Amino acid sequence: MRKPKVSSCPECGKTNVVVPILYGYPSDEAMEAAERDEIVLAGCMDGDLDPSYYCRRCLVAFENARQFA
Ligand SMILES: [Zn+2]
Repeated sequence: MRKPKVSSCPECGKTNVVVPILYGYPSDEAMEAAERDEIVLAGCMDGDLDPSYYCRRCLVAFENARQFA
């Protein structure tokens, strides 16, 4: 499995707490990654937006850190 590219959080600027958000029905591999806090499953998320990343420190979802810079 290739390493997902992760942006920095627009709130805290950290990258080690930011995980990609996965949409759609998760594979077994995705479920295991979610249990290791490596990704977030969209099924756990609530909202109308389709952000790509989630900061586990700030508890915020965001599309791309660059557009907030
Ligand atoms: Zn953050």
